[in-house]
Amino acid sequence: MNGGSQSSQQTVTVLGGGVAGMSAACALAEAGFRVHLVERRGYLGGRASSYLHPGVNEVIDNCQHVLFGCCTNLIGFYRRIGVADRIHWTGEMTMIEPGGRRTRLGPSWLPAPLHGIPRLLSAHAFTLADKLALARAFSALLRPIPIDTTENLGAWLRRNGQTHGAIERFWRLVIASALNADLDTIALPYAAKVIRELFMNSAEAGSMGMSTVPLSELYAGAEQFLNQRGSEVVYNANAESAQWNEQSRQWTLVTRRGELLSDFLVPALPFEATGKLLPRLPPAEGADALMGQIRKHEHWPICSVHLWFDREITDLEHAVLLDREIHWMYNKSRLQSWRKLKGSYLELVISASRTFAARSREEAIAQALSELAEFFPRVKDATLEKAALIKEVRATFGVPPGIDAARPHAVTPWPNLFLAGDWTATGWPSTMESAARSGHLAAEVVCAQTGAPRAILSPDMKPRGLMRLVKTSVQHNSTSHHAQR
Ligand SMILES: Cc1cc2nc3c(=O)[nH]c(=O)nc-3n(C[C@H](O)[C@H](O)[C@H](O)COP(=O)(O)OP(=O)(O)OC[C@H]3O[C@@H](n4cnc5c(N)ncnc54)[C@H](O)[C@@H]3O)c2cc1C
Repeated sequence: MNGGSQSSQQTVTVLGGGVAGMSAACALAEAGFRVHLVERRGYLGGRASSYLHPGVNEVIDNCQHVLFGCCTNLIGFYRRIGVADRIHWTGEMTMIEPGGRRTRLGPSWLPAPLHGIPRLLSAHAFTLADKLALARAFSALLRPIPIDTTENLGAWLRRNGQTHGAIERFWRLVIASALNADLDTIALPYAAKVIRELFMNSAEAGSMGMSTVPLSELYAGAEQFLNQRGSEVVYNANAESAQWNEQSRQWTLVTRRGELLSDFLVPALPFEATGKLLPRLPPAEGADALMGQIRKHEHWPICSVHLWFDREITDLEHAVLLDREIHWMYNKSRLQSWRKLKGSYLELVISASRTFAARSREEAIAQALSELAEFFPRVKDATLEKAALIKEVRATFGVPPGIDAARPHAVTPWPNLFLAGDWTATGWPSTMESAARSGHLAAEVVCAQTGAPRAILSPDMKPRGLMRLVKTSVQHNSTSHHAQR
């Protein structure tokens, strides 16, 4: 393993090859640093990756990952590494009831935040009472919400007269599923943020993006980008401990593959891996408080069922499946047409799936198949050729009331060591956008330390239409390095 900084070029070691680590590493390489991106596994992507699944002999994503137009830092990262054109965008969302009746939601010519109203008014999936309840809730969420409110989304929905249909078919399925947690555990400001970004600010902010290639192929662009700038990815190198040398003002990182010397260290790890690393750093005042923050975080699982059929099941690219345990259907044979399948490949996603995750493989696949047949009758005549179940038990962190106090900024008690990771203080829930933001925030702090500050964080998308007149009600916790001091 090489390392060190023989030349005057400053060096950074970024730990973790997830979206946070990759976005920090690429931004820093672009800013002129020599970067080592150290990854425990043999591939990039972290919780958003793909691999050859031995059971089905196919390269599959650990789970379908979607992004939205408002994910400005993730999109900025994709542009930086040259893969933005591999994202397929759609403004439409199809909801299907058991039995097959469809509702299409999506934008119209009306200005934001009214652009979704015409389709909502004609939606079969909601009764008139549901529609009125939703309209009331949306307008209430336009008003300022104190960022430190202790009210959870479930309590707020009950207080705001939401109907059973609105709760089950919209709030639970769309919003709680986007935040991957139960309604009663979601802090209201996070729910309000999702509503504003996805449904109110503009049609562009709410349009949904899906990769047309497997996730690791998408993120392979990051390695090329780094190599072209004299930086490198170090695979299969679990970061075990690090020591700071005050004289040389450098960090020595100890990994399973050897040692690495650098001027800066950026751990971009999940919260539990950060918690394992901290006790293996030199003692520092404030380390205990950081450990205390880490202990407040909790995981939520996501399961996905991957099914290969001998024939086409649906012409839809994706759909929201109502009133059943499976929540989302992604038609991977359409989204990834290069697969050139004779039949079709569907992925079903079950969010916040603590009950589903407890099932055996056979039970889970049987359940998914029988539910899928209620939405798409062709399933009954089709032959299932192969199937895979992926349980991601540590998929995302929850965002209960008060969680912001447990999300640290990039600056730490240690010199030249800055944190990233989706769970750090970005103001965003556990998403690739939060990870990309955290990476960009950490990169900004590193640049500022060298006396060459640089704006790396992409600005938020500006609200359009009438939303330009609405005062921002949800305070963002995402700050640039200037505010972190
Ligand atoms: C099933 C599932 C579905 C999801 N769906 C979506 C979605 O639709 N949209 C969305 O935006 N987000 C989604 N997410 C969340 C999203 O994947 C994460 O928020 C994001 O990828 C986190 O990125 P990260 O870089 O912060 O962390 P990670 O991706 O966890 O990256 C951390 C990296 O550090 C490595 N590592 C750990 N310990 C060490 C060590 N000691 N030394 C070296 N390396 C180490 C890990 O191997 C990993 O590669 C989903 C997540 C899952 C699991």
